[in-house]
Amino acid sequence: MSSRMLDVKDLAVSYGMITAVKGVSFNLDEGEIVALIGANGAGKSTILRTISGLERAKSGSIQFLGKELTKMPAHKIVEAGIAHVPEGRRVFPRLTVKENLMLGANIVKERSIIQQRLERTYLTFPRLKERQAQLAGTLSGGEQQMLALGRALMTGGKLMLLDEPSMGLAPIIVEDIFRIIKEINEAGTSILLIEQNAFLALQTASRAYVLETGLISIEGKSSDLLKDDRVRESYLGA
Ligand code: ATP
Repeated sequence: MSSRMLDVKDLAVSYGMITAVKGVSFNLDEGEIVALIGANGAGKSTILRTISGLERAKSGSIQFLGKELTKMPAHKIVEAGIAHVPEGRRVFPRLTVKENLMLGANIVKERSIIQQRLERTYLTFPRLKERQAQLAGTLSGGEQQMLALGRALMTGGKLMLLDEPSMGLAPIIVEDIFRIIKEINEAGTSILLIEQNAFLALQTASRAYVLETGLISIEGKSSDLLKDDRVRESYLGA
């Protein structure tokens, strides 16, 4: 039986005079992959950034495993079990692959746990193990995306927030990344996925929400949305 992990209610977020998110409600159960899809500027990244404490909600609530996140500082949100993989990957180019990964575990004190997580991360991403001593800035785009995902695994988070993991990557690499995202989910991590490639998002997630200029316009099971005329016309190029 699944239980509610994330419950976002009437969330509104503004940047000065601009209201980017206008009262959005959605949820995610433990073990799920849920997608937020929508055009550029619809407010998807703002929602993820607000969940992880990088932006502040103007109103509404974000409950994660029974805790209210809207007033919690970002580092406490990581400790609570949320790992954010930002848009554009943001690895530290002058640190090695391993040093980048270790930053993900900086909230952990026990060396044995850090070692265990590192081994698991290297099992998931053998390429990162091969390149552990290499500077992150010299990795390819796909490898940097793997590193960003690996760093999130190192936090030990129960929920991963993925912001456009396919961005700027060749289709064959995207396929690889999404295969790994599914593996990470099957191993027990829940995933909230933002993706401009709606087809990919709907193939990956069990449920999805369509965001249009700060509001949710359509929601449902991915299998239903793939058949929905509005979704097909506006987001699937049908
Ligand atoms: P994208 O895929 O382009 O990131 P998105 O759906 O994630 O799109 P957001 O990045 O959340 O959309 O942006 C939502 C709205 O908020 C847009 O109108 C954007 O211009 C505005 N916005 C985003 N970040 C800021 C900021 N730091 N300051 C002012 N306005 C912002």
